[in-house]
Amino acid sequence: MNNGLKASYVTLGCKVNRYETEAVRAKLEAAGFETVRPTEKADVCVVNTCAVTATAEAKSRAAVRKLISASPDALVVVCGCSAEINPQDLTDIKGVSLVLGNDKKPDIADIIIAKLGARDPLKVKPRLRTRAAVKVQDGCDNFCAYCIIPYARRGMTSRPIGEVMAEIESLAAAGYKEIVLTGIRLGSYDDSGVDTAGLVRKVCGVPGIERIRMSSIEPWEVTDGLIGAMKHPKVCRHLHIPLQSGSDSVLEQMNRPYTSAEFLSLAEKVRREIPEIGITTDIIVGFPGESEDDFADTLRTAEAAGFSRTHSFRYSIRKGTAAAEMTGQIPEGVKKERAARLNDLTDSLSLEFARKMTGKTHPVLIERFDAETGLARGFTDNYVEVYVETPPGTKTNRIIDVEIAEATAERVLGKAK
Ligand code: SF4
Repeated sequence: MNNGLKASYVTLGCKVNRYETEAVRAKLEAAGFETVRPTEKADVCVVNTCAVTATAEAKSRAAVRKLISASPDALVVVCGCSAEINPQDLTDIKGVSLVLGNDKKPDIADIIIAKLGARDPLKVKPRLRTRAAVKVQDGCDNFCAYCIIPYARRGMTSRPIGEVMAEIESLAAAGYKEIVLTGIRLGSYDDSGVDTAGLVRKVCGVPGIERIRMSSIEPWEVTDGLIGAMKHPKVCRHLHIPLQSGSDSVLEQMNRPYTSAEFLSLAEKVRREIPEIGITTDIIVGFPGESEDDFADTLRTAEAAGFSRTHSFRYSIRKGTAAAEMTGQIPEGVKKERAARLNDLTDSLSLEFARKMTGKTHPVLIERFDAETGLARGFTDNYVEVYVETPPGTKTNRIIDVEIAEATAERVLGKAK
């Protein structure tokens, strides 16, 4: 049912932000707000910003301006880490109605409802439900030298296990098949004696939930207990473990508590214990002081780790962090050139990983149909997106067995079995 009011949402940054925006959206939809695309005219616009880098902040401000130009009369609510760290930069944008810090996130929907109210209900199209992110933890105390998050999300908190399980049970009842457990430091989950591994085991027991995936997890938090829990058939054979650099001296400067050799031995152990697992990662290029030799170590480590997907980004100064004060800032041209070399390598690693899957059968959660090719699209459990030839009548939100037929730089193709 809707109240005649339209709402649009833009989320930047991490899975935790995505989860939090989803929570606002779910509450507003329950109150009758219709969700529209960010390019459409809306009565209320919510922008959940990111401040992980200066570029992320600039993108956040650009997103706010774009929404305002699509909906000049809307109530524009800006939240997230950029709103926490630099609220004035956002308040100064003409058309912004409210700038709210992270502590206000749970109240955003109520604030909007109080301002705009709920009116005559009309019919509204239900949204497709396939995969839902569930936030279980917030905050970080590691203070990596480049990262603003420990300043923006202070302290480490875990949601009560009862509350998490109740949410997952209600998502299962609503038809969701896959749960993505998220947290700023997912691997540090700890409530009433339940750690991350225990949490994964509990979620495996929820009827209706067919797949459990974990969002990013720090290398020092991938424990033997967690690897053991991942052997349950419902748990996706996928881990996103941020490497950030393959140079030991850069890792030390970054305040990352591991060496490249330790990272590689973890990757090897995970592959030994969970065959065909997809290991994805984040890498920062051009951290202050990164020499050509340091960068060569990163290339070597990435290749040895055999990542199936890599999110690489060029370091940019983040005011308020330790790295912003470091000498040896790398010129933009050098960062660009290194990033291009890294991307060439990681693209070929992704292709190599997908090629090894050809001829094999993998479960794929069908999430949508591609407008251009008419093929179904979805992810394997080890996180490779596949375009699937399916029999007529195939529906979304089903996990089907798919034989991987071909992997090219453009796409991975498969056929429903
Ligand atoms: S572990 Fe490091 S990169 Fe991750 S949130 Fe904490 S400080 Fe930031």
